[in-house]
Amino acid sequence: MDGIVKKQFSEMESYIPGRPIEQVKEQYGLERVIKLASNESSLGPMPAALDAIKKYSSQLNRYPDIEATILRDTLAKYYKLPRENFLIGNGSNELLRIAGQAVLGKGDEVIFAEPSFVVYRMVADLFEAKAVPVDLKNHTHDLEAMLAAITKKTKLVFICNPNNPTGTMVSRAEVEDFINKVPEGVLVVVDEAYAEFVEERDAYPLDLNYSVNKPIIVTRTFSKLYGLAGLRIGYGVAPPSYVAVDQKIRDPFNVNMLAQVAATVSLGDKNEAQKRYEQNLENKRYLCRGLKEVGLDFVGSQANFILIDLKKDSTLVFEKLLKKGVIVRTGEIFTERYRNYIRVSIGSKEEIDIFLEAIKTI
Ligand code: PMP
Repeated sequence: MDGIVKKQFSEMESYIPGRPIEQVKEQYGLERVIKLASNESSLGPMPAALDAIKKYSSQLNRYPDIEATILRDTLAKYYKLPRENFLIGNGSNELLRIAGQAVLGKGDEVIFAEPSFVVYRMVADLFEAKAVPVDLKNHTHDLEAMLAAITKKTKLVFICNPNNPTGTMVSRAEVEDFINKVPEGVLVVVDEAYAEFVEERDAYPLDLNYSVNKPIIVTRTFSKLYGLAGLRIGYGVAPPSYVAVDQKIRDPFNVNMLAQVAATVSLGDKNEAQKRYEQNLENKRYLCRGLKEVGLDFVGSQANFILIDLKKDSTLVFEKLLKKGVIVRTGEIFTERYRNYIRVSIGSKEEIDIFLEAIKTI
């Protein structure tokens, strides 16, 4: 397809997903494989979501609600914000891409932290914009340096909070201060895919209510705490004028019917959400204690994963873990400087035990 497909796409790198369980089972002849590579929920969808999926399956001959009205109403009530501010995406990933599509042209600049979620660079590449990565400081967003990196060409800044893959967060006050200092003409996207897991809730804008009047979009997802990664659904809050633009850019019916109903009822089950939050905290502490016993350093995490410093090339350890039926992520995927790290999803206690046993013997 050389000479037909746009040059930037043939040169662009693809998103590398975590290795699928079935593939690893087959490759190594294993009966039991656990996946701690993609920060998924180990608990599955919520029971209410499973019921809703069953109930609505018989209506799949119909197109879904193009405006996701019920879900947006539910989000509006949940956050006490107007429905007109809510965007729904085919995964929050789609919202990140549409943000790029809405504002980027050739030669524009996109600022994001490094290492952070790999999709920010891909969004820049997609629209022939220039990726401007800014190194983390103490594994955390260096907002001062990110601010200093803004030029006349900057159109988009991504902040990943908590950050994937380090699990660190910046506070509400720090994000607001940053947004207030950003010059006019720059869109700030705050990606809060792991918001529901944050331990330091007092310092975090859990209520989505940023006290700023600037062009910002905040994105969240049903893929993580709510266990709906396979259905693909995320949401965002943005100024209504941006919501109107998003509506034109996205595919009609971009979010399927089952995802809409499952997300709606999941949001309604606050007890189950709290239970999952507490379980992640408890398991995170359990994993941290285990890592300390093994003598491994790690970065303090506010999310449902943890970054572990192996102090040696993690790609070798990754292979050995695979042979023992444990799928994790190696740090060099995010940036070469983190080659010695692995990122491990928190998982269930049973999965943590399997992981700790494997890493101990390796
Ligand atoms: N943002 C971050 C930081 C992520 O880690 C992920 C998923 N790994 C996403 C966005 C996309 O999530 P989804 O499209 O499933 O909502």
